[in-house]
Amino acid sequence: MARIGLVAHDDRKDELCRWAEAHRETLSRHELWGTGTTGSRVMAATGLDVNLLKSGPLGGDQQLGAMICEGRLDVLIFFIDPLTAQPHDVDVKALTRLATLYDVLSAHNRPTADAVLAAL
Ligand code: PGA
Repeated sequence: MARIGLVAHDDRKDELCRWAEAHRETLSRHELWGTGTTGSRVMAATGLDVNLLKSGPLGGDQQLGAMICEGRLDVLIFFIDPLTAQPHDVDVKALTRLATLYDVLSAHNRPTADAVLAAL
């Protein structure tokens, strides 16, 4: 069982929910963690249990980063909006940086998220 973090910026939340619905069966076999709004949306869309952290801009990205450096997260599915400036851009960078540093399986779009899930 992998510990999977789920995050999506506002314009990518629908896409992440559709992805989670498509992979509901597989995701149900893993432990899911999500930033506040993303996690709530995924729970509502799929009925899956998602452990909710703070909303991303309020520290949720940093909580996921802390989980990564403490060895408590195996996978990061992070649908980033490449077209919109984020008020918490430094947190976004910190999270992707830690995921890279600690060799966490990471995906920022649907094709790579599919590939990551298939690799588990
Ligand atoms: P949210 O946070 O799921 O609480 O909206 C995501 C983000 O980092 O923007």
